[in-house]
Amino acid sequence: MSASASSSTGRYSVFAIAREAMRLHSGWKRAWQSPEPKKKYQVVIVGAGGHGLATAYYLGKNYGITDVAIIEKGWLGGGNTGRNTTIIRSNYLQDPSAAIYDKALKLYENLSQDLNYNIMFSPRGLLMLAQTEHEVRGYKRTVYANQLQGVSTEYITPQRIKEMLPIINIDGPRYPVLGALYQERGGTARHDAVAWGYARACSAMGMHIIQNCEVTGIETANGQVRAVNTGKGRIECDKLALVVAGHSSVMAEMAGFRLPIESLALQALVSEPIKPCCDLVIMANTVHGYLSQSDKGEMVIGGGTDGFNNYTQRGSWQHVEETVRALIETFPMLSRLKMLRQWGGIVDMTGDRSPILSTTPVGNIFVNCGWGTGGFKAIPGSGWAMAELVAKGQPGPLAADFGLNRFIEGRFIDESVAAGVAH
Ligand SMILES: Cc1cc2nc3c(=O)[nH]c(=O)nc-3n(C[C@H](O)[C@H](O)[C@H](O)COP(=O)(O)OP(=O)(O)OC[C@H]3O[C@@H](n4cnc5c(N)ncnc54)[C@H](O)[C@@H]3O)c2cc1C
Repeated sequence: MSASASSSTGRYSVFAIAREAMRLHSGWKRAWQSPEPKKKYQVVIVGAGGHGLATAYYLGKNYGITDVAIIEKGWLGGGNTGRNTTIIRSNYLQDPSAAIYDKALKLYENLSQDLNYNIMFSPRGLLMLAQTEHEVRGYKRTVYANQLQGVSTEYITPQRIKEMLPIINIDGPRYPVLGALYQERGGTARHDAVAWGYARACSAMGMHIIQNCEVTGIETANGQVRAVNTGKGRIECDKLALVVAGHSSVMAEMAGFRLPIESLALQALVSEPIKPCCDLVIMANTVHGYLSQSDKGEMVIGGGTDGFNNYTQRGSWQHVEETVRALIETFPMLSRLKMLRQWGGIVDMTGDRSPILSTTPVGNIFVNCGWGTGGFKAIPGSGWAMAELVAKGQPGPLAADFGLNRFIEGRFIDESVAAGVAH
């Protein structure tokens, strides 16, 4: 697929950098256009986060559907996609989850080449620490399940953890480290770059990314979608995809149906930059915290969700204190770091901690949500599956188990262990 523009400065390469250096960088094209909306599109996607943009990209790439508008109330990637701690892994327990998360991981592995945009994918390895007997049993079970699913993970000893990660204290008085679930292919990517890379590729295919344009209403007739009302006027569409994470229930209400989603704030923080000391991603679910080191040297730290439903997209002192306090026993060196920034995003939680990719009670309205605290890692796989759902009007194999009907049939995909901490 050559979604990127073909002219000399449309395609990023070492030659383009050299050429632009010679002409004082005067020839770079805008990465994406900001057009005025048309009156009608074949597909309208609400939400220019990673999942909405990836849906658009694979609609174009896999199905040749490019008459697409992606409508965003703020700026693209400004929701959870630009606020998350970028953990990528596919070590989930249930078969449908392993399938979609591992599809995502495989797509991430070549995404920079596919998009011609460096998403800074860093498969540095990921540890989920077992700090209680219950976790030891849970993670060993996940390793066995992963083996059956063809997802490579292993259960490793405290000694091996200490060798890999000298800054860890494995002898904590309350929660000694008893082992870990290790996924060597897990890691991180740059969150903004994922959104920007998809946006650039969508724009190059002629799709319209319309920012600063809130969807305020959904028009239906005879049980089918007709149009959306937005800050920039009424826009008709044949098909509508709602991909708005924590605002999914607000959007569903506009279309006249309800979703089993709770919206909660999830917070994260970063420390001052320090020398490289941690080349793994570590999740400590019992004490409820996780960390990795950014390329700039900051320790990127996250914790749990707020204990009550809300739409406040910001951090709070209480969470900083709780999360850092929780991690210090296992990582004593954190106690000497200054914390620089904190923030929050609104995540969309389902009861079984699995996503929803589904048709809805309204014809030609499709919904993608419920990724909760862990949807960054799923972006390419989710976009791939959602594009199939929108293009064909029914889910393909990756999305089949994630329909809304599972809540009526009681066929839950329980991922509460895999989603144990925040991710
Ligand atoms: C602090 C934090 C840490 C996280 N850490 C991780 C992690 O380490 N790993 C991981 O896998 N996941 C993580 N997540 C979860 C992950 O960020 C999300 O699951 C994922 O980004 C969701 O992407 P999205 O595209 O569905 O939503 P978003 O990126 O939130 O995009 C939805 C967009 O819809 C727009 N929108 C909403 N309402 C309207 C409207 N009415 N009209 C138009 N546009 C609208 C919003 O402005 C937003 O831009 C974390 C989340 C947070 C908050």
